[in-house]
Amino acid sequence: MMTVSTFQLLDGKRCGEALRARIAQEAAAVKAARGRAPHLAAVLVGNDGASRTYVESKVKACESVGFRSTLIRLPESTSEDELLVRVKQMNRDKELDGYIVQLPVPAHIDPEKVTLAIAADKDVDGFHPENIGRMVLGQPCFLPATPSGIVELLRFNHIETAGKHAVVVGRSHIVGTPMSILLSRNAYPGNCTVTIAHSRTRDLPSITRQADILVVAAGRPEMITADMVKDGAVVVDVGIHRVPDTSRKSGFRLIGDVKFDEVAPKCAWITPVPGGVGPMTITSLLLNTLKAAQR
Ligand code: NDP
Repeated sequence: MMTVSTFQLLDGKRCGEALRARIAQEAAAVKAARGRAPHLAAVLVGNDGASRTYVESKVKACESVGFRSTLIRLPESTSEDELLVRVKQMNRDKELDGYIVQLPVPAHIDPEKVTLAIAADKDVDGFHPENIGRMVLGQPCFLPATPSGIVELLRFNHIETAGKHAVVVGRSHIVGTPMSILLSRNAYPGNCTVTIAHSRTRDLPSITRQADILVVAAGRPEMITADMVKDGAVVVDVGIHRVPDTSRKSGFRLIGDVKFDEVAPKCAWITPVPGGVGPMTITSLLLNTLKAAQR
């Protein structure tokens, strides 16, 4: 029986704005002390529409907090070697605090080689194995942007996490796996007992129903339905999908991995899509860049 009828939004837009105001203040202090603002570069190879949108919003976010940003567009035909040469140049560039190579890269380029070539101290995406290793060991590092943004969202809303059962659906290197590590670490937010589910998990609903905190990053539109969620749960929806919608000027709307309308009434807290995890991911990138500039 459903017992929770009101839910609160884990509002990533509001939380992101609050964090960005703080980042802007600290960026101004960096500029005053070092004579230049924190500087992030983003490399975009090819013409993938979604990637272009992501990169452009990252560049815009930099401007909103007073960072310098550089967008490097390379043609689809760029070879792996040419990209690696650019990466090495950026590793040496003393005017650059951090940079990202937007994924996915075209199929003829090995993304793992690119990630490994990025200097760990400029890897503000937090994808380099050195940063992942440091995260596991609880050492100073750049945390991967999406899980780190979720942690900030939980912190901002004072969500209690210690002793809770967290279920993370998805085990990708950039979202599910680091999320499970951050939720289980001995810190706040953290100290959860974590279950990680994936495509080979049997009877997923019986597992998600045990979650006090449910993080869904499976990339499957609206796969989490009301019967899969416990009353009073905290639900974080990482998924983001475009579906056609002729009633909108754009011709589409965004939905997540969670069927929001039927799940939300059961929750204590839930992220909207859009406006939940998305804005936090970009804010985390800014936080990492600020950290790089402050070192
Ligand atoms: P991946 O495709 O890399 O990983 C998906 C994971 O979900 C895999 O571990 C897969 O299992 C698991 N999975 C797939 N189907 C099921 C299922 N039916 N039941 C249980 N587990 C399943 O995706 P990402 O982690 O990169 O991204 C996930 C989603 O989040 C996407 O929609 C993406 O667009 C979105 N995203 C949003 C961001 C934001 O800022 N809002 C940032 C990053 C991602 P297996 O390992 O067995 O294949």
